[in-house]
Amino acid sequence: MTDAVELIRAKRAGQVLTDDDIRWLISGYTSGDVADEQMAAFLMAVCFRGLGPGELRAWTSAMVESGERLDLSSVPAPTVDKHSTGGVGDKVSLVLAPLVAACGVAVPQLSGRGLGHTGGTLDKLESIAGWRAGLSAAEMMSVLRDAGCVICAAGPGLAPADRSLYALRDVTGTVDSIPLIASSIMSKKIAEGTAALVLDVKVGSGAFLPDVADARLLAQTMVELGAEYGVRTSALLTRMDSPLGRAVGNAVEVEEAVATLRGDGPADLTEVTLALAAEMLAVAGITADPAAALASGQALDRYRRMIAAQGGDPEAPLPQARQAEKVTAGQSGWLRRLDARAVGVAAWRLGAGRARKEDPVNHAAGARCLAKPGEWVEAGQPVVELLADEVARLPAARQALACAIEIGPEPPDPAAMVIERIRS
Ligand code: URA
Repeated sequence: MTDAVELIRAKRAGQVLTDDDIRWLISGYTSGDVADEQMAAFLMAVCFRGLGPGELRAWTSAMVESGERLDLSSVPAPTVDKHSTGGVGDKVSLVLAPLVAACGVAVPQLSGRGLGHTGGTLDKLESIAGWRAGLSAAEMMSVLRDAGCVICAAGPGLAPADRSLYALRDVTGTVDSIPLIASSIMSKKIAEGTAALVLDVKVGSGAFLPDVADARLLAQTMVELGAEYGVRTSALLTRMDSPLGRAVGNAVEVEEAVATLRGDGPADLTEVTLALAAEMLAVAGITADPAAALASGQALDRYRRMIAAQGGDPEAPLPQARQAEKVTAGQSGWLRRLDARAVGVAAWRLGAGRARKEDPVNHAAGARCLAKPGEWVEAGQPVVELLADEVARLPAARQALACAIEIGPEPPDPAAMVIERIRS
């Protein structure tokens, strides 16, 4: 007979668990037979001991099997999703999904909400009056057929074990484990039913795994899991040392995403989006030019259709913050660093993010990077603009930026946004 305490002790001692042990543990946790404190102890043991390849497969399968699987076989185009491991100013999905849809790929994107210093795609889109993240499976299919892309919340029936485990990991310091992150992301993507998947694995100070070797291992683990479950998966490692684009928050990011769809976006955001689009088209086996789809306005048209199909008014004015304060350069020189994590924390303290899953976010709050690394700044020139509704939030945000700005006599070395591509 299997017993939670025995399994915790076995994992703590570095033993390899059987498929049955793992299936029992996940289904016991989902049904309530395994208590939160037991699962928390087990997760901590995984953080130290990891999961072997067989254990990881069994863990992922048990999470997929804990709920329903969507059937996208009736969609009349190849399906490809994209998932980012989370970053600061990462509004790529808002541009990428309609862009790739305009190239003939169906993009069923189940997205999440922000946590900690990183933003969430659903929070950003909820800045748009009327827009709904919660769609039934039938509504999701209808938006996908009409606009060619849909961005919505995963329903409660999709990998419910991951939902409970993620909430527990979040409050027990057990999020940053490569097998736990890989199985969490991939179980949802496998259950979603997409035929192919491109992962944007962020590397740098604003990423959950700042180190390139960890990010590479995470990417390889997810690519292999995808291949085992028949989901054609590839990954790009992309830079997240400074915020992506200039806007960080919710409404400000929607504004910047729309500017990018009009062909007037920041260079780094456009570069990452076009690279991910090319990868999505490659895994879908479609030959098209995403830069042309952006330039022609077709991607913007898809965006408008998607927003309207989900109840939003793409032309509605976005919320504006009542307070603004500028953080200025202490000296003249080249802006060498604008730390992504620090800007993310500042935006979060201004109200753009949440400390707990159930907290509301302030859609108007955030930050604008008025200068980017590689630009020359004069002493006293504004580098970051802080946006908030409550003036009392500004000092803590300013404090978050205390060591975030580095100015020097030499410009930083130029670096491509895509560090590496990983395919199976
Ligand atoms: N995103 C997820 O969905 N799961 C994780 O564990 C981390 C990021």
